[in-house]
Amino acid sequence: MALKYLKDVVTLKLNKDKCIGCGICFQVCPHQVFMIDGGKADIRDKDSCMECGACAQNCPINAVTVRSGVG
Ligand code: SF4
Ligand code: SF4
Repeated sequence: MALKYLKDVVTLKLNKDKCIGCGICFQVCPHQVFMIDGGKADIRDKDSCMECGACAQNCPINAVTVRSGVG
């Protein structure tokens, strides 16, 4: 299986309907990609995402998905 790494295409996705606003993604993101606004997470700076996967792994209801890289 070949996984292509596409430059400038960030795979981070946030399902705002599912989000319960716990703020964990905001706390674990090393690049301040998220902000919490009105009790929901929002993606503040998608381009800063380095796809580390921390947000997706720590979101309690899997509202965040990201294809985390291998390297
Ligand atoms: S994958 Fe990592 S860098 Fe990207 S938004 Fe999630 S925690 Fe932040
Ligand atoms: S960790 Fe998940 S539920 Fe919590 S604020 Fe972030 S997206 Fe919403």
